[in-house]
Amino acid sequence: MTVLRLSDNCTLQLPVEVAKALGIAPGDRVELTATESGYLLQRHQPTAPNKTPVAEAIRRKNLATPLQYVKAAGPKLAEMLAKKGVVTVEDALYLLPSRYEDRRSITPVARLKTGATQVFHGEILSADTVTTRGGKKQFEALVSDGTGTITLKWFRFNPVWQKKSWRPGRKGIFTGEVAQYGPQREVHHPDVEWLTDGDDLQTVMARDPLNFGRIVPVYPLTEGITQKVMRRLQKEVVEEFAADVTDHLPREIAARHGLMPLPEALRDAHFPGTDADLTCLNSGETVAHRSLVFDEFFFLELGLALKRRGVTMEKGIPFTVSHTYTKPLLQLLPFQLTAAQRRVLSEIKADMMAPHPMHRLIQGDVGCGKTMVALMASLVAVENGYQVAIMAPTEILAEQHFLNIHHWCEQLGVTVSLVTASLKGKAKTELLQRIAAGELSIVIGTHAVIQDKVEFARLGLGIVDEQHRFGVLQRNLLKKKGTNPDILVMTATPIPRTLAMTVLGDLALSVIDELPPGRTPVETRIVFESRRQQVYGIVRDEVKKGHQAYVIYPLVEETEKSDLKAATQMAEQLQRDVFPDLRIGLLHGRLRPEEKEGVMAAFKRRETDILVATTVIEVGIDVPNATVMVIEHAERFGLSQLHQLRGRVGRGGGTSRCILLTPGRLTEDGERRLRVMESTNDGFRIAEEDLTIRGPGDFLGTRQAGIPDFRVANILRDGRLLENARRDAFVLLERDPELSEYPEVRSELVNRWGGRLELAGVA
Ligand code: ADP
Ligand code: MG
Repeated sequence: MTVLRLSDNCTLQLPVEVAKALGIAPGDRVELTATESGYLLQRHQPTAPNKTPVAEAIRRKNLATPLQYVKAAGPKLAEMLAKKGVVTVEDALYLLPSRYEDRRSITPVARLKTGATQVFHGEILSADTVTTRGGKKQFEALVSDGTGTITLKWFRFNPVWQKKSWRPGRKGIFTGEVAQYGPQREVHHPDVEWLTDGDDLQTVMARDPLNFGRIVPVYPLTEGITQKVMRRLQKEVVEEFAADVTDHLPREIAARHGLMPLPEALRDAHFPGTDADLTCLNSGETVAHRSLVFDEFFFLELGLALKRRGVTMEKGIPFTVSHTYTKPLLQLLPFQLTAAQRRVLSEIKADMMAPHPMHRLIQGDVGCGKTMVALMASLVAVENGYQVAIMAPTEILAEQHFLNIHHWCEQLGVTVSLVTASLKGKAKTELLQRIAAGELSIVIGTHAVIQDKVEFARLGLGIVDEQHRFGVLQRNLLKKKGTNPDILVMTATPIPRTLAMTVLGDLALSVIDELPPGRTPVETRIVFESRRQQVYGIVRDEVKKGHQAYVIYPLVEETEKSDLKAATQMAEQLQRDVFPDLRIGLLHGRLRPEEKEGVMAAFKRRETDILVATTVIEVGIDVPNATVMVIEHAERFGLSQLHQLRGRVGRGGGTSRCILLTPGRLTEDGERRLRVMESTNDGFRIAEEDLTIRGPGDFLGTRQAGIPDFRVANILRDGRLLENARRDAFVLLERDPELSEYPEVRSELVNRWGGRLELAGVA
């Protein structure tokens, strides 16, 4: 801990390291601000003159400079970068290094460590093309610096050119990752800086201070562009333009989190000082990185907070809870709602009773009973004389919901209808008319069908079953079908918390974190094709014990005929060759609804032992007596989908099993994904892993959801910062809803969000 000394003449002695940490240098002016917990000392930032609208406009214009006008870039490099989405100076500034290399000192060859990128120098002893035992050609050079030798290798090279430049006797400075192969240390495709005769090491290093004697940045997206060229470009961009990036973060917030001004942060992130911490740099934890990330998160969260306020300020329908249908339903159900279902339901009811529209997400693992909660909420709306729209992403899912909900509503005397794309002619006109007249209470269909075709008399509640993705657009369109109806979104994809906060910042979140009693973790194993017979043995054993089994076949597209054929053939073959004595059912998306219902009902009544199915059964089917699931070509499924499928077993007591059948050879990624399934039944962990492997954009289809791509932040890595930024943004807006004290924050917000944010009362 640093001790501060107060001297007699009322001055404060700041130790050098403290001043440094504060970013204060001799000659700087400092200022003192009062905060809740004491005084805040910080460098005086002469921001005022820069924040005039004109100065601001000039800065923005500078940042928009196309890269082709930057000396170090020129038209050709600019064109290559443009292909990768890096067009302006601002794009380049925010193209941060993906990692950093330590080139501060030269390591003697004898002391080179394996597994790290290092810099060493030496003389080439020998160099030539060699042919490996496998008949491949590679180029090898042996280098020595007197302390030891090391082999350099190339697998792609131009033999003539390579031989000419890598001549024995030549000296150079080499950079690369050192690897150990048996007794030999090697560097593959090293970088080199040649020394000419008479050059000593120090001179050469001093001659190129951008690439040596420092921690150097390594940039992403540089296919076809050397790191040296990128560094030269970025150096110029940072020096010429970083100062034009303006800080808009309220001063007290920046100070509270110890953030630095953006121009400095950009400088440090691109070209860190020699005393920087390499580990922090590579994990994105330097003050510079944190400052950039926080800034990005803060404006995102502020926008979301504002959007949410806009929603809650709107007038909605104040429902009353009369229990006309909800109570009888509870009496009909053969089970009690779980505590989690009851809690979420009361959150929903509170929202529905409020005079503002509800915007709530129910999140819960497969089989936790979301549909039941949705039905209860629907009945509240129906009790109040309103209609309910339930939208599912596919026809099959819509049908499942219909079958599920219809079963109960029939007994309650509540009218439910399914609108499908195949509905034609008179039947269609009639149905749509009845909905428009308000005669049908609950309407179920796909997103597309409901949006395109259906008009409601009195829409009070819209339920969006998103399953895997999130469409803000869909929610908005649904809203327009009524006068500010309540909106409930359901998802079976457990979204990691940090991601939920980001993507769903304007939705309230309810989590059903409990499964109905009697569910047991499913034992999961990856099994290779070669052991297929053993798998059949397991299935047979389970059936002998009086249990049932699923065999799932991948069906990438519902319309893919070849896959359909595969599932059909599979069923036939199993029946003929493997289980001639057992009863096998077949379920796929091409069956008509009644046929599907028939197949499922037969399985439920134990009239079939094995159900061969495509992913149709991903939802809806619930047979506790089924204890084993075999998933063919498991590597073709997404993790979340596998988790959904697996959720169909483990519903009775006792042990259930899931077997992931795969061909002998898996890609590294494929294997990693499937191992996750083996190791856990926790949907959240699976989702996190899925997110890590696929990246957030792909995971949620965030582009479609209207969420900006992050420039510098990484929501997996920076979760803590995101939480802080979110809290600060919400608090700020609470204190100053119009942002009237923060005009710069306000204009920056509009600038960053552009048209994507319908800013209530701000734009
Ligand atoms: P989700 O939509 O969350 O995947 P569902 O609503 O489809 O889950 O419920 C899965 C199965 O569990 C259904 O058969 C449903 O009837 C049943 N179920 C729902 N809630 C309960 C409960 N509290 N106790 C027992 N079974 C329940
Ligand atoms: Mg469901």
